[in-house]
Amino acid sequence: MEPIIIIGTGLAGYNLAKEFRKLNNSTPLLFITGDDGYFYSKPMLSNALAKGKKPAELVISDADQMASQLNAEIMTFTRVEGIDPASHCVSTSQGESLSYSKLIMAVGAKPIEPPLVGDGVELIYTVNNLQDYTEFRKTISYSRHIAIIGSGLIGCEFANDLLSAEYQVSVIGPDKVPLGRLLPTEAAKYMKQQLAHAGVKWHLGETCTAVNKNKNHFVLELSGDKTITADTVLSAIGLKPDTSLAKAAGLKTGHGIIVDRYFQTNEPDIYAIGDCAEVEGQVLLFVMPLMQGARALAKTLAGEPTRISYPAMPVVVKSPACACVASPPPTGVEGDWQIEQNDKTVKALYIGKDGKLAGFALLGEAVTEKAALTKQLPSMMT
Ligand SMILES: Cc1cc2nc3c(=O)[nH]c(=O)nc-3n(C[C@H](O)[C@H](O)[C@H](O)COP(=O)(O)OP(=O)(O)OC[C@H]3O[C@@H](n4cnc5c(N)ncnc54)[C@H](O)[C@@H]3O)c2cc1C
Repeated sequence: MEPIIIIGTGLAGYNLAKEFRKLNNSTPLLFITGDDGYFYSKPMLSNALAKGKKPAELVISDADQMASQLNAEIMTFTRVEGIDPASHCVSTSQGESLSYSKLIMAVGAKPIEPPLVGDGVELIYTVNNLQDYTEFRKTISYSRHIAIIGSGLIGCEFANDLLSAEYQVSVIGPDKVPLGRLLPTEAAKYMKQQLAHAGVKWHLGETCTAVNKNKNHFVLELSGDKTITADTVLSAIGLKPDTSLAKAAGLKTGHGIIVDRYFQTNEPDIYAIGDCAEVEGQVLLFVMPLMQGARALAKTLAGEPTRISYPAMPVVVKSPACACVASPPPTGVEGDWQIEQNDKTVKALYIGKDGKLAGFALLGEAVTEKAALTKQLPSMMT
């Protein structure tokens, strides 16, 4: 029997296999992964310092342990370089051609590269996996001041985490407030204030244009002729789904690999899940959607076709200096923000024209209302 091949051993690939094995223990499963196959919680990369964890301590299981837990074979440090849908084969960096019965692409997303010039650009860090993070931690052990390019979710989480370990942190972002895509302006201003109290030096409304080396430091040129000096530079300007392999195989792609509500691509036996997938125009780069997806796709692969529907999935920002959870209103839903705030909290509710709750942002003490408000939100995809 040809195996089900899963490309990628991130949270999407491994959680899919865990769910599948609850339903079927006999179909052969083969993972092919470009990395070491370690199972770890990626969200912990941006709060490991505060939790007192070294990179190696984030590993839950290695590839051998995962292979035996999942009754699967795992090929590590092997990249899939091509897919031939017609012959149901993948070609690998080891020169092999392997047949599949079904193929699952769980290849994740890639950091967006900032459009920068300068002789320091090559030395800017991005952190999207444990290997990146291990290198970043080695470097910052010799640093005091870290400059973060990007004031979104990941930039703010790293800023707060680095502060917890007493680094000096500067954050550069083009908008006047951080987390502009997730929070209404008033709530974002509150977050800005709280992180400033904790020690973040903001450079907002500014873009970084160049990064140059100067002895052991980096000089960052900002719009408006400002410069800042830092020992290490981290770019956190966002991720985009990795569609390269899918495109080369002739699969339909948009922002991500386009799949239907069963996670199936335009090829009947090829599926995509996790950060790389685009479901009905939505790319959701979070854990909760991939867990929901893993349960649905596992059933489909086990013979019970299951359409995905997503509940409301608020996003928790891991920023201990300012607890925060948000569920932005879906695009196109007309309504207004109603905001109550004092110096300990912000409670922002987005009320649609129909009078119903369509989104929220809770900061500080108001986060305790998360569960009750989430119940009132409409499903994200019915
Ligand atoms: C710092 C950080 C903090 C985060 N915090 C949160 C959080 O608090 N809450 C939350 O919900 N989400 C968070 N996220 C997002 C969440 O971690 C991701 O959505 C999730 O881990 C994506 O999993 P994935 O399996 O789809 O992709 P990945 O983890 O990127 O896995 C992709 C896999 O594919 C393999 N691969 C890629 N191409 C090939 C190829 N051609 N051949 C073989 N193998 C290949 C890679 O080696 C890897 O094993 C965070 C992300 C980051 C970076």
